Formats: sequence, structure tokens, C-alpha cells
Amino acid sequence: MLELEKQVAIVTGGSRGIGRAICLSLSRRGATVVACARSEAALKSLADDAMEGQHAGRIEPSVLDVGDRDAIGKLVDTVSDAHERIDILVNNAGITHDGLLMSMEDDQFESVLTTNLRSAFWLTRAVSRIMVRRRYGRIINISSVAGMMGNPGQANYAASKAGLIGMSKSIAKELGRRKITCNVVAPGFITTDMTDILPDDLKANVKKLIPLGRLGDVEEVAEVVAFLAGAAASYITGQVIVVDGGMHM
Ligand code: NAD
Repeated sequence: MLELEKQVAIVTGGSRGIGRAICLSLSRRGATVVACARSEAALKSLADDAMEGQHAGRIEPSVLDVGDRDAIGKLVDTVSDAHERIDILVNNAGITHDGLLMSMEDDQFESVLTTNLRSAFWLTRAVSRIMVRRRYGRIINISSVAGMMGNPGQANYAASKAGLIGMSKSIAKELGRRKITCNVVAPGFITTDMTDILPDDLKANVKKLIPLGRLGDVEEVAEVVAFLAGAAASYITGQVIVVDGGMHM
């Protein structure tokens, strides 16, 4: 039997980048993965890839804007009605909207906080009710080293990612007795659409700060998430696992 067989996972921002790799790595281990994203087309290609790769688990595409609190409630009800369990939650959806502090608009701050932090609160609150009933759960929040180090032009993003770390530690303390773990994965620079938009000279400078001398791949983050979701991580909770080639230490 595969490690995550019969388990049900919800992953947000599953259509591309790190989230897509997480969906594939959990389904490869046998989980049924409810992959959420705003675009139906992008999710279909993810489900097709999993079929082609003959993954043991299923990918169930689900259109969801994580900034829509009511839609989050409906999604969790639908998944729990269909499967009667939610074992794994990965809050991965995230955006940047960079700008220097003095010219940062309220909207720019609020939208990043909503997509990156409030959404994780709404989803975790809803899913935790099901996990508590079953006395089992793995919650994994995707933060960033920016939430630990700060970054010029990212007051909004760094605040949201630091907020995820504090929230996760509180949840870990609150739900530990119910056999629910909550951990954080904090990537450094990973090759995705989010970092593709950075200028080449900035990427070259960043590489100089990374002891391993390169940007990371999405699979290198996804494998850590799969580890935290699996049996081998049963005694790990409230931790921040940094996946950054040694950039922040
Ligand atoms: P990406 O831009 O390639 O993917 C982000 C995903 O989030 C997409 O699937 C997008 O559709 C989804 N998303 C955004 N807003 C959404 C919304 N309102 N509702 C539903 N889905 C939404 O980025 P990525 O690099 O794969 O980032 C994934 C996560 O990893 C993010 O939380 C990001 O902050 C974090 N991260 C990335 C890096 C990096 O270097 N790429 C570094 C540190 C942390």
C-alpha cells in the first residue's frame, strides 16, 4: 500500500509552480488531491498530467479563489461530504505585489494579506473542524524566507509570510492534542512564474548569496511537503523547514 493511499488532501494554488508539484507528489504517493485554483483550464492540464504519469492517487480539480471566504466554506463542505475526511491541507496559494513602503497603496497591502494569510486562516479553520472530529490531520503552510529575513519592496508579502509562521505555531500548540500537526515550509528562490519575472541581474546577484549556487526546483519544495504529510513526520509540529539552498541561516 502506498504511503498516502486513502488519504484526502486539499492543495491551494495547484495549477502551476510549487502548488502543482505538491499536487503531483501527493498523488504519486496515493492521496486523492483536491487541487484548487482560479482557472479550470490550468487544472485540467494538471489532472491530465497525473493520469499520464499513472499516478496512484486521483487529482480532483476544483475552481476556487482563496480570497472568497464563502467559496472556501462551500469547498470544504463539498469535499467532506464526498470523502468524509480531509487528512492533509496545504495552504500554498500566494501572490506578490511589490512596492516601496512610502508608495505602497492600502489595496496593495490588503490584497496580498488576503490571498496569502487570511485565506489560510479561513481554510484552516474550516478544515480543522473535520480533522478534530477524526483526531488526525496534517496542515502545511507555504511561507517564504522573506517572512523571516524581510525584503525591500515586500513589506506586504513579508508581513503575510511572517504571519503564516506565527499562525502555524499557534495552531500547532492548539491542535497537537488532537493529533493534528501544523508545519511551515519556507522556500527561498525557486524557479517558477513568480521568480521568472525578476530581472536577470537580480537573479545573478541572488545566486551569489546562495551557498548551493542555484535557484531551487519546485520538486525540491514538494518533496519536503510530502515528507511532512507522511508517517515519517509524525513527531514534527510547529516547525519551519527552510528550503533555500542555505541562503538564510
Ligand atoms: P506561482 O505564481 O507560480 O503560483 C501561485 C499559485 O497561487 C498559482 O497557482 C495561482 O493561481 C495561485 N493563486 C494566486 N492567487 C490565488 C487566489 N486568489 N485563489 C486561488 N489561487 C491563487 O507561484 P509559486 O512560486 O509556485 O508560489 C507558490 C507559493 O510559494 C506561494 O505562496 C509563494 O509565496 C511561495 N513561495 C515561492 C517562492 C519562489 O521563489 N517561487 C519562494 C518563497 C515562497
